[in-house]
Amino acid sequence: MSKPVLNPKTTHLEFSGLPGALAISIGLPAVLILFELSCNRVYSAQGISLNFAAIKDQLPNSWEAVKLLVFDPLCWKAYLTWFFTLAACDVWLPGQTLKGVPLRDGTQLTYKINGPAMSILFITVLVYRWYTCENHYMPELAFVYNNILQLTLTTIVFAWLLVVFVYVCSFIPLRKPNGVGTHERVLSINGNTGNVIYDWFIGRELNPRIGPLDIKLYCELKPGMLLWLLINLSCCHYQYHTQGSVSDSLALVTAMQMFYTFDGVLNEAGVLSMMDITTDGFGFMLSFGDLALVPWSYSLQSRFLCLPENRLDLGWPKVIGITALMALGFYIFRSANQQKSDFKNGKLDHKNFKSIKTETGSKLLCDGWWGLSQHINYFGDWLIGWSWCLPTGFQSVLPYYYVIYFGALLVHRQMRDEAKCRAKYKKSWVEYERQVPYKIIPYVY
Ligand code: NDP
Repeated sequence: MSKPVLNPKTTHLEFSGLPGALAISIGLPAVLILFELSCNRVYSAQGISLNFAAIKDQLPNSWEAVKLLVFDPLCWKAYLTWFFTLAACDVWLPGQTLKGVPLRDGTQLTYKINGPAMSILFITVLVYRWYTCENHYMPELAFVYNNILQLTLTTIVFAWLLVVFVYVCSFIPLRKPNGVGTHERVLSINGNTGNVIYDWFIGRELNPRIGPLDIKLYCELKPGMLLWLLINLSCCHYQYHTQGSVSDSLALVTAMQMFYTFDGVLNEAGVLSMMDITTDGFGFMLSFGDLALVPWSYSLQSRFLCLPENRLDLGWPKVIGITALMALGFYIFRSANQQKSDFKNGKLDHKNFKSIKTETGSKLLCDGWWGLSQHINYFGDWLIGWSWCLPTGFQSVLPYYYVIYFGALLVHRQMRDEAKCRAKYKKSWVEYERQVPYKIIPYVY
């Protein structure tokens, strides 16, 4: 019998193949730039709406001006310091060592999970700076707020370059653990088409690493998520120092997103079983998503609310109502994920929960949260998104971008996961779909 090929050629293309990959690689960075031009101090003086004439006025009118914005030396210095300092902390901070899922070559990678240590260090540095700065004016936060466009461009270009580096490295064989000879790298099942642009976009290598640093796990949580938090704080800082106080709406959005960010970083171990780590390669889609899209688009509500003309004071009843929505969404999201994880790890009493035994030997849970819909965790996550948008009131559709974009992302993710599970579980998946017919929202979709 012939040996199975380690890295089979990819035949199924996502996002309609090359045209989709090109459209996303150009379109999403353009959307981020549009957000900045539609939601900043200069423009807001003219009122928030998508006024393309006013946006056009802000565009640089020469190649020199474009270069100054894209390659602002201070912004590059700041971002490289941020990225590599956090990377060094990721490598050196203590943490728990966990094994990832078994790979196609029979090996299992080990990961250092130090989200808790990173969170403690980050909060300590932040609180220390806040206490020691005169009048609580933090130059670092003012720098972030005053350079949003330049920093957005810096992260986009950095994400682009990082993927070029990772793509090139994916062709270099790895040294064997015993130091004698080399072996092929494990590629993503989705990113081995042979088309340079498509593979660069979707991600060729499954687990790119530089020495002890796992690039994909590191980028998934730390530089992007913590930057998102920093941007929100920079908006509070701006509002406090220009308007004398922080509105309850902005404080609420910042607090809820801070909670979500830290929850993600603290539960770093949960990421190891996510599709991003187990299946997807590290391409522009993930690099741009983690490093640029998350911080600059998820912070849109704060950037909107900190502007003087959008300032909104909600009052306690609305603050409590929105907090309750976030709590409900979070409860569904966290307990559903926990229930699946406990089920898979054998911690859940299998006798009391209905499940389907599959041909692969594993079981599909179709009870508890997982009896309500196939991705009830996505529904919880989407409710959380609503709780972040509602504090902006109904002044503009712009800050509602998140629930629209995230809804589309979750539906696309559900379809990808369904295709994977259908291929893996075959008849058992059909039976699972019969028992649990709703995909995300119970009784709706
Ligand atoms: P899921 O946590 O839903 O995991 C799907 C996988 O779980 C399937 O491929 C299958 O894997 C297994 N599975 C599915 N149904 C069952 C079942 N009934 N019983 C047992 N196993 C099952 O999806 P994701 O990994 O995509 O998402 C994880 C979390 O991350 C979600 O809560 C999501 O909302 C969140 N998320 C947040 C994002 C953000 O930007 N805020 C972006 C993306 C995700 P197997 O092959 O092991 O059986």
